[in-house]
Amino acid sequence: MSGPSIVWLRDDLRLADNPALRAAIDRGERVICLYVLDEESAGIRPLGGAARWWLHHSLESLASGLRERGASLVLRRGPAERVVRETARDAAASAVFWNRRYGGPERTVDTALKTALRANGVEVASFAASVLFEPWTVKTGTGAHFSVYTPFWNACLRLPPPRHPLSEPHEIAGEPRPPASEALQDWGLLPHRPDWAAGLRERWEPGEPAARRRLREFLASDIEEYDRARDEPAAGATSLLSPRLRWGELSPHTVWHETIAAGRGGRFLAELGWREFAWHTLFHFPDLASKNLRPQFDAFPWPPLRPDLLRAWHEGRTGVALVDAGMRELWSSGFMHNRVRMVAASFLVKNLLIDWRHGEEWFWDTLVDADAASNPFNWQWVAGSGADAAPYFRVFNPDLQAKKFDAGGRYVAKWAPEHLSHEPLEPIVNLAETRRAALDAYAHVTRSA
Ligand code: FAD
Repeated sequence: MSGPSIVWLRDDLRLADNPALRAAIDRGERVICLYVLDEESAGIRPLGGAARWWLHHSLESLASGLRERGASLVLRRGPAERVVRETARDAAASAVFWNRRYGGPERTVDTALKTALRANGVEVASFAASVLFEPWTVKTGTGAHFSVYTPFWNACLRLPPPRHPLSEPHEIAGEPRPPASEALQDWGLLPHRPDWAAGLRERWEPGEPAARRRLREFLASDIEEYDRARDEPAAGATSLLSPRLRWGELSPHTVWHETIAAGRGGRFLAELGWREFAWHTLFHFPDLASKNLRPQFDAFPWPPLRPDLLRAWHEGRTGVALVDAGMRELWSSGFMHNRVRMVAASFLVKNLLIDWRHGEEWFWDTLVDADAASNPFNWQWVAGSGADAAPYFRVFNPDLQAKKFDAGGRYVAKWAPEHLSHEPLEPIVNLAETRRAALDAYAHVTRSA
Protein backbone atom coordinates (compact mmCIF):
# COMPACT_ATOMS: atom_id res chain seq x y z
CA MET A 1 0.00 0.00 0.00
CA SER A 2 1.28 3.45 -0.87
CA GLY A 3 1.71 6.07 1.86
CA PRO A 4 0.91 9.80 1.85
CA SER A 5 2.85 12.38 -0.15
CA ILE A 6 4.76 15.16 1.60
CA VAL A 7 5.08 18.58 -0.02
CA TRP A 8 8.06 20.31 1.52
CA LEU A 9 7.34 24.04 1.13
CA ARG A 10 10.20 26.52 1.29
CA ASP A 11 10.26 29.85 -0.60
CA ASP A 12 6.98 28.98 -2.33
CA LEU A 13 4.31 29.74 0.25
CA ARG A 14 1.37 29.48 -2.14
CA LEU A 15 -1.32 27.15 -3.40
CA ALA A 16 -1.63 28.45 -6.97
CA ASP A 17 1.03 27.57 -9.52
CA ASN A 18 2.82 25.29 -7.12
CA PRO A 19 4.13 22.33 -9.15
CA ALA A 20 5.24 20.32 -6.09
CA LEU A 21 1.79 20.63 -4.52
CA ARG A 22 0.13 19.81 -7.82
CA ALA A 23 2.28 16.68 -8.24
CA ALA A 24 1.33 15.51 -4.74
CA ILE A 25 -2.37 16.03 -5.41
CA ASP A 26 -2.14 14.25 -8.78
CA ARG A 27 -0.40 11.30 -7.15
CA GLY A 28 -3.73 10.53 -5.55
CA GLU A 29 -2.58 9.72 -2.00
CA ARG A 30 -3.17 11.85 1.12
CA VAL A 31 -1.20 15.10 1.13
CA ILE A 32 0.87 16.50 4.00
CA CYS A 33 2.36 19.99 3.66
CA LEU A 34 5.51 20.64 5.66
CA TYR A 35 7.50 23.77 6.44
CA VAL A 36 10.88 23.47 8.18
CA LEU A 37 12.51 26.41 9.94
CA ASP A 38 16.14 25.55 9.27
CA GLU A 39 18.62 27.72 11.12
CA GLU A 40 21.14 24.95 11.64
CA SER A 41 22.24 23.45 8.34
CA ALA A 42 25.76 24.46 7.39
CA GLY A 43 25.87 27.67 5.39
CA ILE A 44 22.13 28.41 5.48
CA ARG A 45 21.85 32.04 6.43
CA PRO A 46 19.52 32.72 9.37
CA LEU A 47 16.66 35.02 8.38
CA GLY A 48 16.76 38.69 9.30
CA GLY A 49 14.23 40.28 11.65
CA ALA A 50 11.90 41.74 9.01
CA ALA A 51 11.96 38.48 7.05
CA ARG A 52 10.98 36.53 10.19
CA TRP A 53 8.03 38.84 10.69
CA TRP A 54 6.87 38.27 7.10
CA LEU A 55 7.39 34.53 7.34
CA HIS A 56 5.22 34.25 10.47
CA HIS A 57 2.26 35.93 8.81
CA SER A 58 2.71 34.21 5.48
CA LEU A 59 2.74 30.79 7.17
CA GLU A 60 -0.39 31.73 9.09
CA SER A 61 -2.11 32.65 5.85
CA LEU A 62 -0.90 29.50 4.09
CA ALA A 63 -2.08 27.28 6.96
CA SER A 64 -5.52 28.81 6.77
CA GLY A 65 -5.70 28.38 2.96
CA LEU A 66 -4.73 24.72 3.35
CA ARG A 67 -7.25 24.17 6.16
CA GLU A 68 -10.08 25.57 4.02
CA ARG A 69 -9.18 23.02 1.34
CA GLY A 70 -8.91 20.03 3.65
CA ALA A 71 -5.18 19.85 4.40
CA SER A 72 -2.94 21.00 7.21
CA LEU A 73 0.51 22.53 7.49
CA VAL A 74 3.03 20.69 9.65
CA LEU A 75 5.69 22.96 11.17
CA ARG A 76 9.00 21.62 12.36
CA ARG A 77 12.32 23.19 13.26
CA GLY A 78 15.88 21.93 12.84
CA PRO A 79 18.36 20.91 10.14
CA ALA A 80 16.16 20.21 7.14
CA GLU A 81 17.85 17.04 6.00
CA ARG A 82 17.15 15.34 9.32
CA VAL A 83 13.74 16.92 9.92
CA VAL A 84 12.29 16.02 6.52
CA ARG A 85 13.52 12.43 6.85
CA GLU A 86 11.99 12.16 10.33
CA THR A 87 8.70 13.62 9.17
CA ALA A 88 8.58 11.22 6.23
CA ARG A 89 9.21 8.35 8.63
CA ASP A 90 6.59 9.57 11.18
CA ALA A 91 4.02 9.91 8.41
CA ALA A 92 5.00 6.66 6.67
CA ALA A 93 5.18 8.82 3.54
CA SER A 94 6.09 7.18 0.27
CA ALA A 95 6.78 10.37 -1.71
CA VAL A 96 8.35 13.77 -0.99
CA PHE A 97 8.06 16.63 -3.46
CA TRP A 98 9.53 20.15 -3.48
CA ASN A 99 10.26 23.10 -5.73
CA ARG A 100 13.93 23.70 -6.42
CA ARG A 101 16.21 26.19 -4.66
CA TYR A 102 19.32 27.70 -6.23
CA GLY A 103 21.62 28.80 -3.36
CA GLY A 104 24.73 26.70 -2.70
CA PRO A 105 24.05 25.43 0.86
CA GLU A 106 20.38 24.87 0.02
CA ARG A 107 21.32 22.72 -2.97
CA THR A 108 23.69 20.70 -0.79
CA VAL A 109 20.87 19.96 1.67
CA ASP A 110 18.39 19.10 -1.07
CA THR A 111 20.78 16.78 -2.90
CA ALA A 112 21.74 14.91 0.27
CA LEU A 113 18.11 14.56 1.23
CA LYS A 114 17.13 13.27 -2.18
CA THR A 115 19.78 10.57 -1.96
CA ALA A 116 18.85 9.58 1.61
CA LEU A 117 15.11 9.41 0.93
CA ARG A 118 15.56 7.41 -2.26
CA ALA A 119 17.81 5.00 -0.38
CA ASN A 120 14.81 4.43 1.92
CA GLY A 121 12.56 3.69 -1.03
CA VAL A 122 10.78 7.05 -0.93
CA GLU A 123 9.89 8.62 -4.26
CA VAL A 124 11.38 12.12 -4.62
CA ALA A 125 10.77 14.73 -7.30
CA SER A 126 11.68 18.39 -7.55
CA PHE A 127 10.23 21.07 -9.81
CA ALA A 128 11.02 24.46 -11.34
CA ALA A 129 8.86 27.11 -9.75
CA SER A 130 10.78 30.07 -8.37
CA VAL A 131 12.58 31.38 -11.45
CA LEU A 132 11.33 31.70 -15.03
CA PHE A 133 14.44 30.12 -16.54
CA GLU A 134 16.60 27.69 -14.63
CA PRO A 135 20.27 28.70 -14.38
CA TRP A 136 21.68 25.78 -16.37
CA THR A 137 19.37 26.51 -19.31
CA VAL A 138 20.73 29.98 -20.11
CA LYS A 139 24.16 29.86 -21.72
CA THR A 140 26.40 31.91 -23.99
CA GLY A 141 27.37 30.57 -27.41
CA THR A 142 30.41 28.92 -25.82
CA GLY A 143 28.38 27.26 -23.07
CA ALA A 144 29.48 29.68 -20.31
CA HIS A 145 27.15 31.73 -18.14
CA PHE A 146 26.48 35.41 -18.71
CA SER A 147 28.09 38.19 -16.72
CA VAL A 148 26.30 41.05 -18.49
CA TYR A 149 22.57 41.63 -18.12
CA THR A 150 21.43 42.63 -21.63
CA PRO A 151 22.79 39.58 -23.50
CA PHE A 152 21.60 37.43 -20.58
CA TRP A 153 18.03 38.68 -20.84
CA ASN A 154 18.06 38.51 -24.64
CA ALA A 155 19.17 34.88 -24.39
CA CYS A 156 16.32 34.18 -21.93
CA LEU A 157 13.83 35.73 -24.32
CA ARG A 158 15.02 33.45 -27.10
CA LEU A 159 14.22 30.35 -25.00
CA PRO A 160 10.76 28.78 -25.00
CA PRO A 161 8.54 31.16 -23.00
CA PRO A 162 7.86 30.46 -19.30
CA ARG A 163 5.13 27.85 -18.82
CA HIS A 164 1.58 28.96 -18.01
CA PRO A 165 0.75 28.97 -14.31
CA LEU A 166 -1.02 25.97 -12.81
CA SER A 167 -4.43 26.64 -11.36
CA GLU A 168 -5.11 26.73 -7.66
CA PRO A 169 -6.44 23.52 -6.09
CA HIS A 170 -9.90 23.92 -4.55
CA GLU A 171 -9.74 20.74 -2.53
CA ILE A 172 -6.80 18.81 -1.14
CA ALA A 173 -7.11 15.33 0.31
CA GLY A 174 -5.25 15.99 3.55
CA GLU A 175 -3.97 13.32 5.90
CA PRO A 176 -6.57 12.95 8.70
CA ARG A 177 -3.86 12.24 11.28
CA PRO A 178 -0.85 14.30 10.16
CA PRO A 179 2.45 14.02 12.04
CA ALA A 180 2.81 16.31 15.07
CA SER A 181 3.39 19.97 14.31
CA GLU A 182 5.12 22.61 16.39
CA ALA A 183 3.15 25.79 17.16
CA LEU A 184 4.02 28.82 15.05
CA GLN A 185 3.85 31.04 18.14
CA ASP A 186 6.64 29.01 19.74
CA TRP A 187 9.05 29.90 16.95
CA GLY A 188 9.34 33.48 18.21
CA LEU A 189 9.41 34.96 14.70
CA LEU A 190 7.56 38.10 15.77
CA PRO A 191 9.45 40.81 17.62
CA HIS A 192 8.51 41.61 21.17
CA ARG A 193 10.18 43.79 23.77
CA PRO A 194 10.45 45.94 21.79
CA ASP A 195 7.75 45.30 19.21
CA TRP A 196 9.22 47.26 16.32
CA ALA A 197 6.81 45.90 13.72
CA ALA A 198 4.02 48.52 13.88
CA GLY A 199 5.18 50.13 10.60
CA LEU A 200 5.34 46.72 8.90
CA ARG A 201 1.80 45.85 10.01
CA GLU A 202 0.58 49.19 8.72
CA ARG A 203 2.18 48.78 5.29
CA TRP A 204 1.95 45.08 4.46
CA GLU A 205 -0.44 42.20 4.40
CA PRO A 206 1.59 39.02 3.88
CA GLY A 207 0.02 35.92 2.35
CA GLU A 208 -1.07 34.66 -1.06
CA PRO A 209 -4.56 36.25 -1.22
CA ALA A 210 -3.15 39.75 -0.58
CA ALA A 211 -0.33 39.13 -3.06
CA ARG A 212 -2.82 38.24 -5.79
CA ARG A 213 -4.91 41.31 -4.98
CA ARG A 214 -1.82 43.52 -5.23
CA LEU A 215 -0.85 42.06 -8.60
CA ARG A 216 -4.35 42.67 -9.97
CA GLU A 217 -4.46 46.20 -8.58
CA PHE A 218 -1.02 47.01 -10.00
CA LEU A 219 -1.89 45.70 -13.46
CA ALA A 220 -5.20 47.54 -13.44
CA SER A 221 -3.77 50.95 -12.62
CA ASP A 222 -0.32 51.71 -11.20
CA ILE A 223 1.53 50.06 -14.08
CA GLU A 224 0.29 52.90 -16.35
CA GLU A 225 2.86 55.12 -14.69
CA TYR A 226 5.60 52.50 -14.41
CA ASP A 227 7.81 53.45 -17.35
CA ARG A 228 7.59 57.17 -16.61
CA ALA A 229 7.68 57.25 -12.83
CA ARG A 230 9.29 54.03 -11.60
CA ASP A 231 12.35 55.98 -10.43
CA GLU A 232 10.38 58.47 -8.35
CA PRO A 233 10.07 57.19 -4.80
CA ALA A 234 6.97 59.26 -3.99
CA ALA A 235 5.04 58.25 -7.12
CA GLY A 236 3.82 54.80 -5.99
CA ALA A 237 4.38 53.57 -9.55
CA THR A 238 6.14 50.29 -8.81
CA SER A 239 4.53 46.95 -8.12
CA LEU A 240 5.61 46.35 -4.49
CA LEU A 241 5.68 42.69 -5.44
CA SER A 242 9.24 41.99 -4.26
CA PRO A 243 8.34 40.49 -0.86
CA ARG A 244 5.59 38.46 -2.51
CA LEU A 245 8.07 37.05 -4.99
CA ARG A 246 10.67 36.58 -2.27
CA TRP A 247 8.35 34.35 -0.26
CA GLY A 248 6.81 32.76 -3.29
CA GLU A 249 3.29 33.95 -2.50
CA LEU A 250 3.21 34.63 -6.23
CA SER A 251 5.24 32.75 -8.80
CA PRO A 252 7.20 34.73 -11.38
CA HIS A 253 5.23 32.72 -13.97
CA THR A 254 1.96 34.16 -12.69
CA VAL A 255 3.36 37.70 -12.73
CA TRP A 256 4.76 37.15 -16.23
CA HIS A 257 1.60 35.77 -17.81
CA GLU A 258 -0.86 38.07 -16.06
CA THR A 259 1.23 41.06 -17.14
CA ILE A 260 1.18 39.93 -20.74
CA ALA A 261 -2.54 39.12 -20.55
CA ALA A 262 -3.13 42.67 -19.32
CA GLY A 263 -1.40 43.93 -22.47
CA ARG A 264 1.62 45.17 -20.52
CA GLY A 265 5.23 44.17 -20.37
CA GLY A 266 8.40 45.79 -21.65
CA ARG A 267 10.15 47.65 -18.92
CA PHE A 268 8.36 45.90 -16.05
CA LEU A 269 9.15 42.39 -17.32
CA ALA A 270 12.77 43.46 -17.83
CA GLU A 271 12.89 44.12 -14.07
CA LEU A 272 11.80 40.54 -13.48
CA GLY A 273 14.79 39.79 -15.71
CA TRP A 274 17.08 41.42 -13.15
CA ARG A 275 15.64 39.11 -10.54
CA GLU A 276 16.45 36.16 -12.79
CA PHE A 277 19.96 37.49 -13.41
CA ALA A 278 20.57 37.81 -9.65
CA TRP A 279 19.47 34.20 -9.02
CA HIS A 280 21.53 32.87 -11.90
CA THR A 281 24.56 34.78 -10.61
CA LEU A 282 24.08 33.26 -7.15
CA PHE A 283 23.79 29.79 -8.66
CA HIS A 284 27.14 30.21 -10.42
CA PHE A 285 28.74 32.13 -7.55
CA PRO A 286 27.37 30.79 -4.24
CA ASP A 287 29.60 33.09 -2.15
CA LEU A 288 27.91 36.19 -3.54
CA ALA A 289 27.16 37.61 -0.06
CA SER A 290 30.69 37.29 1.24
CA LYS A 291 33.12 37.54 -1.69
CA ASN A 292 33.69 40.14 -4.38
CA LEU A 293 32.50 38.75 -7.67
CA ARG A 294 35.38 40.58 -9.32
CA PRO A 295 38.42 39.48 -7.29
CA GLN A 296 40.42 42.61 -8.11
CA PHE A 297 38.15 44.36 -5.58
CA ASP A 298 39.84 42.30 -2.85
CA ALA A 299 42.64 44.89 -3.12
CA PHE A 300 40.27 47.74 -2.19
CA PRO A 301 41.89 49.54 0.79
CA TRP A 302 38.84 49.91 3.07
CA PRO A 303 39.78 52.22 5.96
CA PRO A 304 39.19 50.88 9.52
CA LEU A 305 35.45 50.67 10.15
CA ARG A 306 33.95 53.76 11.80
CA PRO A 307 31.05 52.32 13.84
CA ASP A 308 29.70 55.82 14.51
CA LEU A 309 29.28 56.45 10.77
CA LEU A 310 27.73 53.03 10.21
CA ARG A 311 25.26 53.64 13.05
CA ALA A 312 24.33 57.08 11.67
CA TRP A 313 23.59 55.42 8.32
CA HIS A 314 21.50 52.68 9.98
CA GLU A 315 19.47 55.25 11.83
CA GLY A 316 19.03 57.72 8.97
CA ARG A 317 21.07 60.46 10.67
CA THR A 318 23.63 61.16 7.93
CA GLY A 319 22.52 64.73 7.29
CA VAL A 320 21.85 63.81 3.64
CA ALA A 321 18.14 64.15 2.94
CA LEU A 322 17.46 61.32 0.47
CA VAL A 323 19.69 58.86 2.35
CA ASP A 324 18.07 59.67 5.69
CA ALA A 325 14.59 59.38 4.21
CA GLY A 326 15.40 56.00 2.66
CA MET A 327 17.01 54.56 5.77
CA ARG A 328 13.99 55.60 7.86
CA GLU A 329 11.56 54.18 5.34
CA LEU A 330 13.51 50.93 5.62
CA TRP A 331 13.56 50.86 9.40
CA SER A 332 9.95 51.79 9.75
CA SER A 333 8.35 49.71 6.98
CA GLY A 334 10.84 46.98 5.97
CA PHE A 335 11.12 48.40 2.45
CA MET A 336 12.94 51.07 0.47
CA HIS A 337 12.28 52.26 -3.06
CA ASN A 338 14.82 50.95 -5.59
CA ARG A 339 16.23 54.35 -6.61
CA VAL A 340 16.76 55.24 -2.95
CA ARG A 341 18.34 51.83 -2.25
CA MET A 342 20.92 52.67 -4.92
CA VAL A 343 21.60 56.12 -3.49
CA ALA A 344 21.78 54.95 0.14
CA ALA A 345 24.05 52.05 -0.82
CA SER A 346 26.32 54.25 -2.91
CA PHE A 347 26.58 56.74 -0.03
CA LEU A 348 27.66 53.98 2.36
CA VAL A 349 30.27 52.54 0.02
CA LYS A 350 31.56 55.64 -1.76
CA ASN A 351 31.13 58.47 0.74
CA LEU A 352 31.42 56.71 4.09
CA LEU A 353 33.95 54.27 2.58
CA ILE A 354 32.34 51.35 4.39
CA ASP A 355 32.65 47.88 2.88
CA TRP A 356 29.45 46.89 1.00
CA ARG A 357 29.15 43.75 3.16
CA HIS A 358 28.17 45.88 6.18
CA GLY A 359 25.37 47.46 4.16
CA GLU A 360 24.24 44.14 2.79
CA GLU A 361 23.97 42.76 6.31
CA TRP A 362 21.80 45.66 7.47
CA PHE A 363 19.49 45.28 4.47
CA TRP A 364 19.38 41.53 5.12
CA ASP A 365 18.10 42.20 8.62
CA THR A 366 15.65 44.98 7.81
CA LEU A 367 14.13 44.30 4.36
CA VAL A 368 10.95 42.23 4.08
CA ASP A 369 12.10 41.23 0.57
CA ALA A 370 15.71 40.37 1.53
CA ASP A 371 16.77 37.36 -0.47
CA ALA A 372 20.02 35.46 -0.87
CA ALA A 373 20.45 36.53 -4.49
CA SER A 374 19.00 40.00 -5.07
CA ASN A 375 20.43 41.60 -1.96
CA PRO A 376 24.13 40.75 -2.35
CA PHE A 377 23.84 40.97 -6.14
CA ASN A 378 22.58 44.56 -5.98
CA TRP A 379 25.06 45.57 -3.29
CA GLN A 380 27.89 44.33 -5.44
CA TRP A 381 26.34 46.08 -8.41
CA VAL A 382 26.39 49.40 -6.54
CA ALA A 383 29.87 48.78 -5.11
CA GLY A 384 31.28 48.08 -8.57
CA SER A 385 32.52 44.61 -7.64
CA GLY A 386 29.57 42.69 -9.10
CA ALA A 387 28.12 41.37 -12.33
CA ASP A 388 27.53 44.06 -14.96
CA ALA A 389 28.11 46.52 -12.14
CA ALA A 390 27.89 50.29 -12.14
CA PRO A 391 31.47 51.46 -12.64
CA TYR A 392 33.02 52.28 -9.28
CA PHE A 393 34.03 55.76 -10.41
CA ARG A 394 30.41 56.71 -11.08
CA VAL A 395 29.50 58.10 -7.67
CA PHE A 396 25.89 59.19 -7.14
CA ASN A 397 25.50 62.71 -5.82
CA PRO A 398 22.61 62.19 -3.39
CA ASP A 399 21.50 65.83 -3.56
CA LEU A 400 21.29 65.80 -7.35
CA GLN A 401 19.47 62.46 -7.20
CA ALA A 402 16.93 64.02 -4.82
CA LYS A 403 16.47 67.02 -7.15
CA LYS A 404 15.92 64.75 -10.10
CA PHE A 405 13.74 62.01 -8.62
CA ASP A 406 12.09 63.72 -5.65
CA ALA A 407 11.79 67.18 -7.14
CA GLY A 408 8.77 68.19 -5.07
CA GLY A 409 10.39 66.79 -1.91
CA ARG A 410 7.36 64.59 -1.16
CA TYR A 411 9.41 61.53 -0.27
CA VAL A 412 11.80 63.43 1.99
CA ALA A 413 8.85 65.24 3.57
CA LYS A 414 7.28 61.91 4.46
CA TRP A 415 10.30 60.16 5.96
CA ALA A 416 12.81 62.83 7.02
CA PRO A 417 10.83 66.08 7.22
CA GLU A 418 13.43 67.90 9.33
CA HIS A 419 15.48 68.26 6.15
CA LEU A 420 12.82 70.54 4.72
CA SER A 421 11.88 72.52 7.77
CA HIS A 422 15.32 73.73 8.93
CA GLU A 423 18.40 75.32 7.52
CA PRO A 424 20.11 72.66 5.37
CA LEU A 425 21.57 70.01 7.67
CA GLU A 426 25.29 69.37 7.68
CA PRO A 427 26.19 65.97 6.17
CA ILE A 428 28.30 63.79 8.50
CA VAL A 429 31.00 63.72 5.83
CA ASN A 430 31.97 66.17 3.12
CA LEU A 431 30.54 64.77 -0.10
CA ALA A 432 33.19 66.17 -2.45
CA GLU A 433 36.14 65.17 -0.25
CA THR A 434 34.90 61.66 0.40
CA ARG A 435 34.17 61.18 -3.27
CA ARG A 436 37.80 62.04 -4.03
CA ALA A 437 39.04 59.69 -1.29
CA ALA A 438 36.90 56.89 -2.74
CA LEU A 439 38.29 57.43 -6.22
CA ASP A 440 41.86 57.42 -4.83
CA ALA A 441 41.14 54.13 -3.05
CA TYR A 442 39.68 52.75 -6.25
CA ALA A 443 42.95 53.46 -8.04
CA HIS A 444 44.42 50.55 -5.99
CA VAL A 445 41.89 48.21 -7.56
CA THR A 446 42.70 49.29 -11.09
CA ARG A 447 46.45 49.17 -10.40
CA SER A 448 46.20 45.64 -9.01
CA ALA A 449 43.96 44.43 -11.87
P1 FAD B 1 9.31 46.74 -9.42
O1 FAD B 1 9.97 47.92 -9.97
O2 FAD B 1 7.80 46.74 -9.44
O3 FAD B 1 9.92 45.48 -10.05
C1 FAD B 1 9.22 44.24 -10.21
C2 FAD B 1 10.01 43.10 -9.64
O4 FAD B 1 11.23 42.94 -10.35
C3 FAD B 1 10.42 43.30 -8.19
O5 FAD B 1 9.38 42.96 -7.31
C4 FAD B 1 11.63 42.39 -8.08
O6 FAD B 1 11.25 41.05 -7.87
C5 FAD B 1 12.26 42.50 -9.46
N1 FAD B 1 13.34 43.49 -9.46
C6 FAD B 1 13.27 44.80 -9.76
N2 FAD B 1 14.50 45.37 -9.70
C7 FAD B 1 15.36 44.40 -9.34
C8 FAD B 1 16.77 44.35 -9.12
N3 FAD B 1 17.56 45.43 -9.26
N4 FAD B 1 17.31 43.18 -8.74
C9 FAD B 1 16.57 42.06 -8.60
N5 FAD B 1 15.23 42.04 -8.81
C10 FAD B 1 14.63 43.20 -9.17
N6 FAD B 1 15.22 43.20 -4.42
C11 FAD B 1 14.77 42.11 -3.76
O7 FAD B 1 13.77 41.52 -4.21
N7 FAD B 1 15.39 41.65 -2.64
C12 FAD B 1 16.47 42.28 -2.11
O8 FAD B 1 17.02 41.81 -1.10
C13 FAD B 1 16.97 43.44 -2.77
N8 FAD B 1 18.04 44.11 -2.27
C14 FAD B 1 18.51 45.23 -2.94
C15 FAD B 1 19.63 45.91 -2.44
C16 FAD B 1 20.12 47.05 -3.09
C17 FAD B 1 21.35 47.74 -2.57
C18 FAD B 1 19.48 47.51 -4.25
C19 FAD B 1 20.00 48.72 -4.98
C20 FAD B 1 18.38 46.84 -4.76
C21 FAD B 1 17.87 45.70 -4.11
N9 FAD B 1 16.75 44.99 -4.61
C22 FAD B 1 16.30 43.87 -3.95
C23 FAD B 1 16.16 45.32 -5.92
C24 FAD B 1 15.01 46.33 -5.95
O9 FAD B 1 15.32 47.46 -5.19
C25 FAD B 1 13.69 45.74 -5.44
O10 FAD B 1 13.43 44.50 -6.07
C26 FAD B 1 12.53 46.69 -5.76
O11 FAD B 1 12.75 47.94 -5.14
C27 FAD B 1 11.25 46.09 -5.27
O12 FAD B 1 10.19 46.98 -5.48
P2 FAD B 1 9.01 46.61 -6.47
O13 FAD B 1 8.55 45.23 -6.21
O14 FAD B 1 8.01 47.70 -6.36
O15 FAD B 1 9.79 46.66 -7.86
